Amino acid sequence: MITQQQELQQAFKERMNYDDLINCARCGFCLPTCPTYTQTNRNEAASPRGRIALIKGVVDGIIEPDEDFEKQLNFCLGCRACEPVCPSGVNYGHILEEARDIINSKKKHSLPVKTVRHLIFDQLFPNQSRMRGLNGLLWFYQQSGLQKVAQKSGILKVLPENLRMMERVLPDIPSPKEMKNRPTHLLPEETKKKKVAFFSGCLMDTMFMKTNDATLKLLQKAGCEIVIPEGQNCCGALHGHSGEKSTAKEMAKKNIKAFEDLEVDYIVLNAGGCGAFLVDYGHLLKDEPEWAGRAKAFSQKVKDISEVLVELEFHKKDLKLPAQTITYQDSCHLRNVMKTEAAPRTLLKSIKGAVFVEMKHADHCCGSAGIYNIVQKDMSMQILDYKMSHVKDVDPKVVVTANPGCLLQMKLGIEREGLSKEMRAVHIVDLLLEAIS
Ligand code: SF4
Ligand code: SF4
Repeated sequence: MITQQQELQQAFKERMNYDDLINCARCGFCLPTCPTYTQTNRNEAASPRGRIALIKGVVDGIIEPDEDFEKQLNFCLGCRACEPVCPSGVNYGHILEEARDIINSKKKHSLPVKTVRHLIFDQLFPNQSRMRGLNGLLWFYQQSGLQKVAQKSGILKVLPENLRMMERVLPDIPSPKEMKNRPTHLLPEETKKKKVAFFSGCLMDTMFMKTNDATLKLLQKAGCEIVIPEGQNCCGALHGHSGEKSTAKEMAKKNIKAFEDLEVDYIVLNAGGCGAFLVDYGHLLKDEPEWAGRAKAFSQKVKDISEVLVELEFHKKDLKLPAQTITYQDSCHLRNVMKTEAAPRTLLKSIKGAVFVEMKHADHCCGSAGIYNIVQKDMSMQILDYKMSHVKDVDPKVVVTANPGCLLQMKLGIEREGLSKEMRAVHIVDLLLEAIS
């Protein structure tokens, strides 16, 4: 009888693209960029080269796909910092996604894990009205005074430390009414320069709705007519990175349908993690002839807000803030996949009064990485503490980010260091709106 491990090994042989694996020349150029490699005192198995070798070993039948193998894949942040530096052009992100999906498709999860995964991946994220419902509960928790009572009573001590910290850095949640009444069409404030569609996202249009509103305002000020199609849903990144590829594909198809008939110049968004997944829809659906071309056409239109603002010369407007030092923490996916690193810096450097100071290793992951800071808490906090040491060297008043996960993680870092009176973390569009106002 074939064992579960043999079945898994067979799936690796059948599904992994062998050319991708042998494309790795084992040069090691990627090693210094990898946070899990550097933070584990150069453990080869925790490096991109090591993980590719492990996967190849499984495909070749030399290594068994056991628990240690799976742990090493889960230990990866998926930050993709190893890709831009790779001279052989290895697409590590695609290799990792496929490997995780294979493992998940063959894994027999325990009943509680299965239930939690079902609730999160199938019931919550694909359904925006449920996302609103959950955020409505959080709004009630904040507004009713329950949050203060819970914080004072010490009852939150039952939560694991990182969740307890997360609770303290939650943004102000909008009311259920505000979350429901979302705009669908907006006109530019000045001469129309572009017509764009806005990808509103799941968390961004609930928990971070104020940042979405700021984004729309900036686009209007930059001269954009904006359409916000109602049929869109979550981008599917969380699913794609967690071995739930088939649900990710369904969500991608729904988004493609929602946007494809709109005659717009760009599909704009403000979250690097979602953007990187949207620009990869072409790859996600490459094996489905009905969708491959449509997915590619969709992806080609996707642009981060900072790119669009720079193209429309927003940085030449009168942007001002009181005198202060600001620094920027790259969103890994915005930088490594969407290749957007200059535009946010151009915008920040154009704010009069503020002094932009680049922090060391701004391009290294902050340890947020989707739900990594919850499921791999120790490594995530180790990476965050290292990141905060560089933040403290700059001693800024504001740490700017371009992705909701990074924003929460930087807030968490500031809280952990006891620096919340000295500095704050903000999304770039919120700071730009302050500067133009
Ligand atoms: S840089 Fe690319 S080719 Fe070199 S070891 Fe890393 S993944 Fe392999
Ligand atoms: S994705 Fe990030 S953590 Fe994973 S191997 Fe590449 S650099 Fe390392």
